[in-house]
Amino acid sequence: MIRFEHVTKRYPDGTTAVDDLSFEVAEGELVTLVGPSGCGKTTTMKMVNRLIEPTEGRILLDGEDISGIDPVKLRRRIGYVIQQVGLFPHKTVLENTATVPHLLGWKGAKAKDRAAELLDLVGLDPSVYGDRYPEQLSGGQRQRVGVARALAADPPVLLMDEPFGAVDPVVREHLQNEFRKLHQTLRKTVLFVTHDIEEAVRLGDRIAVYGAGRIEQFDPPATVLGAPATPYVADFVGADRGLKRLSVTPIELSDLDQPPVVHVDDPLPARLPDDARWAVVLDADDELRGWISASDAARGSGTVRDRTHRMEAWLPLGAPLRQAFATMLQHDAGWIAVIDEKSAGRFLGVLTPARLHEALRRSTAADAADVDRAEVTLHTVNTPG
Ligand code: ADP
Ligand code: MG
Repeated sequence: MIRFEHVTKRYPDGTTAVDDLSFEVAEGELVTLVGPSGCGKTTTMKMVNRLIEPTEGRILLDGEDISGIDPVKLRRRIGYVIQQVGLFPHKTVLENTATVPHLLGWKGAKAKDRAAELLDLVGLDPSVYGDRYPEQLSGGQRQRVGVARALAADPPVLLMDEPFGAVDPVVREHLQNEFRKLHQTLRKTVLFVTHDIEEAVRLGDRIAVYGAGRIEQFDPPATVLGAPATPYVADFVGADRGLKRLSVTPIELSDLDQPPVVHVDDPLPARLPDDARWAVVLDADDELRGWISASDAARGSGTVRDRTHRMEAWLPLGAPLRQAFATMLQHDAGWIAVIDEKSAGRFLGVLTPARLHEALRRSTAADAADVDRAEVTLHTVNTPG
């Protein structure tokens, strides 16, 4: 969708902002450009909508060299969101959002309907916020209006230059989550600039890590965190990259242990299967009902149902390992149950702390070798004594 071919930008004063850059962004993909200040991210972005012209190389949009496209027409295909949103202070939120539809020649009511629909889409109730002026909004709400306005012409491409950089961390995380969901619905091709590695990891399908004027690594977040391509990247993503990686590594089937299982309608057994200390309790459809301990089972008559404890610590398959770890801590649980949301909550197995650690190590090795996680064998050094 967007393709850079050996693009270099040298400013008149001799600064080489971008040096021989080649990469491609697929249709519907969200790519984050991340790197320290001054490494050429904004320059890269502004070359896509021709606010800046490259010195060498070319940029293709949908296979078409953009140097041959009229800039005004080009920008209609590309939404642009920046940190200083640049809303018109004397226009209402609805009028600001309707700017682009108006420019496209839509008549009053149609443009307003479109604007209201977009405000709704970014989580601002048009009947509450539509008639306000920008100064009557919080920073986070202004950024939402900026996103709504950029989407107004329904462009296939969105450029976002540190759009959430000026809002406080809590609001920023909220905006990030919403934008991620919005992207999953709209499937625009997005280039998203940030200097914040956490943001880059949270949002990107792939991340381009910039050094000075060059891309040091262009990979999915888990790979950048698990197998940094250069010492520069390792340094940039930080010493806690293992922890960050938990957020982008999903629970897989091969990570799960199969504990002893009993069913709710079974008579209470004197002993649990395998003489285990506890067992998972399922119903007739293999859905999770809870757990039972060996001493519960040994006590009295009746069915398993009578002695089943509720199980609060469970997650769907595919949830990030970080959430699994947080759930263990929250419920002070030595394991969590993993279910299949796709088949009505069928129980799949349990994840233990040891298996979680193993999953992380395995996925790192798998990314480095470019194989499936299940194919990786770990060599563990046993501690002496
Ligand atoms: P980033 O967005 O990653 O912070 P920029 O793309 O804005 O980086 O800038 C990359 C480099 O180009 C920096 O060294 C910056 O000082 C320089 N630069 C940016 N714009 C200009 C300009 N108009 N003239 C000269 N140098 C510039
Ligand atoms: Mg910048």
